[in-house]
Amino acid sequence: MLKILFVSTSVGSLGSGQGGGVELTVQNLAQALSDKGHCIDVVAPEGSWLKDVRVIGIAGNLQIPVQTQSRDVPICLPDDAVLANMWSYAQTVQHEYDLLVNFAFDWLPFYLTPFFDTTIAHFISMGSMTIASDRIMEQIIDRYPGTFGLYTKSQADTFSFGDRCEILSSAIDLALYDFNNSPEDCLAWLGRIAPEKALEDAVAAVNTTGIPLKIFGKIQEQAYWDEICRDFPDALIEYRGFLTTKELQQELGKCRALLMTPRWIEAFGNVAIEALACGVPIIAYNRGGPSEIVQQGKTGFLVEPDSITGLVEAIKQIKQIDRFACRQQAEDEYSLSALGDRFEQWFKKLTTNK
Ligand code: UDP
Repeated sequence: MLKILFVSTSVGSLGSGQGGGVELTVQNLAQALSDKGHCIDVVAPEGSWLKDVRVIGIAGNLQIPVQTQSRDVPICLPDDAVLANMWSYAQTVQHEYDLLVNFAFDWLPFYLTPFFDTTIAHFISMGSMTIASDRIMEQIIDRYPGTFGLYTKSQADTFSFGDRCEILSSAIDLALYDFNNSPEDCLAWLGRIAPEKALEDAVAAVNTTGIPLKIFGKIQEQAYWDEICRDFPDALIEYRGFLTTKELQQELGKCRALLMTPRWIEAFGNVAIEALACGVPIIAYNRGGPSEIVQQGKTGFLVEPDSITGLVEAIKQIKQIDRFACRQQAEDEYSLSALGDRFEQWFKKLTTNK
């Protein structure tokens, strides 16, 4: 039995949606490892909530999400930074744990690694973003080989050290997602509403096909959302807000397909496997995480990146996809217990090689 402390993302509290997919990853991984008999505590910004997991809430100001900044941005922390406060806490309790796991993308936890006695594993939730973070990551993986994990090969390929990382994929608790084989005539788009997700492409595509689009997720950049509403005043779109997993899976299941239109290299795309679990096929740009998830013509369609025409053509053919095959793929490839096994193996290596 391992005693492990997870140190969460510093851009938002768990449950807020501000942290994106890594919030679900923290919840699911804590659950998967607890199910295997390990003891997991989570340090996270104040206001965080997880089901059946002990969370230590830490006060302080949030980090600005790095993807909103340029590649050459300097390392920046706000006054009374929650990131620094979480790592100060981790420093004081480190000897109670076999392992610390960092889920933040920020520079500081990498920099602090040599100053801790307890091993730190770093789970990286995005592709390469800034020069400064790439540099510190390179330095730390050189010094502590084997301590980096990430989601996919596409994500690994964005880093010079990608071939030295554990590729761990993702998973969901399938029991929380109901299979729905009777969709309505509508499409879904879900995730953080922010420029790197290119929601405007999905809106443009549904404008052409005339099939309504339901949008679920946190508005991370209000000006960006306002611009979409201005540019497509008559679009058949309905914003449904940020829903809990329970509500989300119910609404998602009613949709004919999920549109995934990220402009960036999506590290994974937890929304893809949530859709599959509900029996919802995926239409995604053929790059990043979704390109490793979608089985072309079987559980969805991968289309030329940034091509609205490609999305439109795929939407027209979506009824060809068997929704049972989607659920089946989720069950075969994205179960929580398999995720628990992969992380357990990685963590055992890190704690026995000391
Ligand atoms: N999500 C949610 N409620 C919503 C819309 C989205 O809980 O109404 C969650 C979804 O379950 C997923 C996350 O938001 O876990 C988005 O993660 P993803 O990996 O797709 O992208 P990221 O935000 O990490 O870039």
